[in-house]
Amino acid sequence: MAPFQGACAIAHNGPQGFRPGLWSTITGSGMTADIQQFIETHALPADVVTARTREIYDALLRRSRCLGCDNSNGGNFSRLDAADLRLMFELYDALVFDGRIQSLLGGTPLSFRLSKRMTRVAGQASRRVVRNRQRKPVRTEYEIAVSTTLLFQTFEEDHRPVVMSGIECRDRLEALQRVFEHELVHVVEMLLWVESRCTAARFQSIARRFFAHTDHRHQLITPYEMAVTKFGIRPGDRVVFAYEGRRREGFVNRITRRATVLVKDGRGRRYTDGGRYAAFYVPMEKLTRVERPEK
Ligand SMILES: [Zn+2]
Repeated sequence: MAPFQGACAIAHNGPQGFRPGLWSTITGSGMTADIQQFIETHALPADVVTARTREIYDALLRRSRCLGCDNSNGGNFSRLDAADLRLMFELYDALVFDGRIQSLLGGTPLSFRLSKRMTRVAGQASRRVVRNRQRKPVRTEYEIAVSTTLLFQTFEEDHRPVVMSGIECRDRLEALQRVFEHELVHVVEMLLWVESRCTAARFQSIARRFFAHTDHRHQLITPYEMAVTKFGIRPGDRVVFAYEGRRREGFVNRITRRATVLVKDGRGRRYTDGGRYAAFYVPMEKLTRVERPEK
């Protein structure tokens, strides 16, 4: 089994000022207390979880303008739209939570975003407090983001088994559901308690009772794993590539969606090893690994 990448499928301290807020949580109303009790105590039997998540799977393929358009691939969709995440939210809220998440949200916005730049985390749930010029909180917003980079490079041909939240997933849509369920638990926790950590017992209890998750990590194939298994390239390796018709040689400094290759260049930026380098952002398939020169 390939090593885990991304110990946590979520990063709360996202960019653009999204962070666990300092503003008050929703407290005091009887409705909230009832929902809190439901979230803390309700448990769905495993066969019910399987049936409901399958129902959501089928409804997504049937109702999405995007996911169902290449029917031959079933759940291995090749296009995804943020509207599909909203549809997913509506289905999960209706079938698993009987509309309670929308009740908690009231008029508070929850938005959905697809990210190509998330290359280690599969999903991210954020809570953001918007403040006025006097730094007074004026409103709170929530967001769920999903990494399309990880989803689309997993479930290519001959892929290794993919286990998400402890559940083996057969296709891309099942994996997306597991990511979404994980992020939904974060949103529920943030709505009720502000703080949410998937390494903590409360999170894991909710994820187990509502979604039969037995782990909080994902095994989607990251660009890093792909670089190692498919191209045999790791950070630190010497590589050659062609750029503007010239052969360039350097070493791999970092792997995200592409590899950052540093090539010695007297006019380049100075790096911590004292050398000056020009940085190139090169697709993995354009790189060839070369043996290190004798020292
Ligand atoms: Zn998490």
